[in-house]
Amino acid sequence: MYRTHSNGELRLSNVGQEVTLAGWVQKTRDKGFMLWVDLRDRYGITQLIFDEDRTPMEMVDRAKMLGREFVIQVKGEVIERVSKNSNIPTGEVEVLVKELTILNKSLVPPFTIEDETDGGDELRMKYRYLDIRRNPVRENLIFRHKVAIEVRKYLSDKDFIEIETPVLIKSTPEGARDFVVPSRMNEGQFYALPQSPQTFKQLLMIGGMDKYFQIVKCFRDEDLRADRQPEFTQIDCEMAFVEQEDILNIFEGLTRHLLKEIKGVEVADFPRMTYDDAMKKYGNDKPDIRFGMEFGELNEVAKHKEFGVFNNAELVVGIAIPGGNSYTRKEIDKLIEWIKRPQVGALGMVYSRCNDDGSFKSSVDKFYDQEDLAKWAEITGAKPGDLVCVLSGNTDKVRTQLSALRMEMAERLGLRKPNEFAPLWVVDFPLLEWDEESERYHAMHHPFTSPKPEDMALLDTDPGKVRANAYDMVLNGNEIGGGSIRIHDKATQALMFDHLGFTPEQAKEQFGFLMNAFEYGAPPHGGLAFGLDRLVAILGGQETIRDFIAFPKNNSGRDVMIDAPSKIDETQLKELSLRLDLK
Ligand code: ASP
Repeated sequence: MYRTHSNGELRLSNVGQEVTLAGWVQKTRDKGFMLWVDLRDRYGITQLIFDEDRTPMEMVDRAKMLGREFVIQVKGEVIERVSKNSNIPTGEVEVLVKELTILNKSLVPPFTIEDETDGGDELRMKYRYLDIRRNPVRENLIFRHKVAIEVRKYLSDKDFIEIETPVLIKSTPEGARDFVVPSRMNEGQFYALPQSPQTFKQLLMIGGMDKYFQIVKCFRDEDLRADRQPEFTQIDCEMAFVEQEDILNIFEGLTRHLLKEIKGVEVADFPRMTYDDAMKKYGNDKPDIRFGMEFGELNEVAKHKEFGVFNNAELVVGIAIPGGNSYTRKEIDKLIEWIKRPQVGALGMVYSRCNDDGSFKSSVDKFYDQEDLAKWAEITGAKPGDLVCVLSGNTDKVRTQLSALRMEMAERLGLRKPNEFAPLWVVDFPLLEWDEESERYHAMHHPFTSPKPEDMALLDTDPGKVRANAYDMVLNGNEIGGGSIRIHDKATQALMFDHLGFTPEQAKEQFGFLMNAFEYGAPPHGGLAFGLDRLVAILGGQETIRDFIAFPKNNSGRDVMIDAPSKIDETQLKELSLRLDLK
């Protein structure tokens, strides 16, 4: 037996027992006649003691050769420690070693295996197996496992069946580029890796499986934005014979279950907000509702004076920054600079200070009197001591800019508390969105999403106005999942493809299999997918999904540990009938 106990296990009650332990050397302390070793494994740390009087000399000598991260096995007796360590659960005992076996040596690790390591990101990724030995990384992976188990428990209890769908498929355009895999046996042809199992899960509904889920890897060849991974994991689900309401209820339940089981948090409110309202109140389709600072639209109370900037604007809109009246002129100027940075792109900002005595002092006092400013304060919910910040211009742009300001200020004011959870559904998304580059409409969710029946007539006259039975779940300002009720008849699907600019031939060639299946008794169905990586990171109260993935890729999509992607050799290329013409 390699070990009788783990290194997190021994207590005072074990004193007197002969035990065998194994693990890694965390550190050694050599006092000449006595030597201590901290022995580490997944479960904790146990202190070993080598004492010239009580440990065979040969073993003491061997212990003197130990270095950090050596793998060892020891046999010895559990004894009570003279000086106890209350910081670790095993801190009251130590193991008096009788026998030491060095199972493997280790080079000096390139960074310290401590909670706070001295290793930079790239180095830690290159030696990820060493990084995983550190508590924070290991704990994150165990945390992820717990979330996945709870997801499976909840969904299985609700009669969902986990079914695997293929990884080598045909491309399904869902907005991103596909990763492709050349087929050796079918010269010149390629598989694509799934961006999601979308069409397969719909086919499973047609197959009568009724409730499906899968914790599944998906692949999207996108230009990497911060904290995106080319391969990521979804909790993918689909249900038949349901309406939107049924789906929202089940997955609201899942979210409540996770928050309760994992975080011990009971969510009181689980609001539903339309896309239009979210944009109007928060300028964002994934609003963080843990704090107020809702938008106040000021068109009616700001466009009646001689101030051209507001008069020419499509939208004048403001927020109240709590306590913002304490900012100095310099600090406000800095804020204006911040909002004018290209990343935010506002042209300027008007502000009004709400003084403690109920009076106002604004940057546009020339145009607006106290009565006007009182209305701004009322509409934005500003109290004495606050600062009303007002932006104006094109509706979409100005909302995005003010949303950026809202989030930034909330961050600075410490209002985005990682251990407070405020989930909500955003519903009634537009079916289509206009793409400037290609000058045509794209499906906002994906081409299989069903328009709201009552909006169908608008498809020909005002496509941008058609709403979909599509919904997102938002948690603390992050989209953690999204889905829709699907089209389940051939005619509507064909119409949809037509609106998305597919010729009937293209639609048939890419999605003929699905349209055909629709003709064999496709039930009404819908579903959604949650991003597991992000969900786990948010539940873990952290920002980066990379910290919750065992072997993540870096920001250029590389795995620096195994050095992928990499070239393949000539023979492989030949077999695949590929030729590289690199310039
Ligand atoms: N397939 C969609 C996605 O990956 C989710 C869904 O509609 O179920 O975003």
